[in-house]
Amino acid sequence: MSTIFSKIIKREIPADIVFESENVLAFRDINPQAPTHILIIPKIEIPSVREINGKEHAALLGEMFDAANKIAKKEGIAEDGFRLVFNCGPNAMQEVYHLHMHLIGGRKMKWPPG
Ligand code: AMP
Repeated sequence: MSTIFSKIIKREIPADIVFESENVLAFRDINPQAPTHILIIPKIEIPSVREINGKEHAALLGEMFDAANKIAKKEGIAEDGFRLVFNCGPNAMQEVYHLHMHLIGGRKMKWPPG
């Protein structure tokens, strides 16, 4: 089922897009939890980590990580470090069922996460 992120991909609703390639899109989170908070998504609809199939999606996931590294460098947070998060399902409080990688940085993080 399509989500609000599909509308962002189709430019039906606005977003602050920071990176785009053939298969991947990245835009700033509307409710940032740190100075840098960017969502990196595949353009195809995969609801969550649970639907990832290693064989089928390996290249796409590689592209998402490449995008994360590229964006982190551009944002100036690569050296100090950053966090990449996939929330999966209700216990992880996933809200949008279109696979997304949170790229969070620009401040010292806490561990363990809440
Ligand atoms: P999750 O809880 O992992 O599903 O995270 C979904 C994220 O999407 C949240 O951090 C929201 O703030 C963010 N979000 C929801 N709608 C939008 C939107 N229209 N543009 C940018 N970020 C959004």
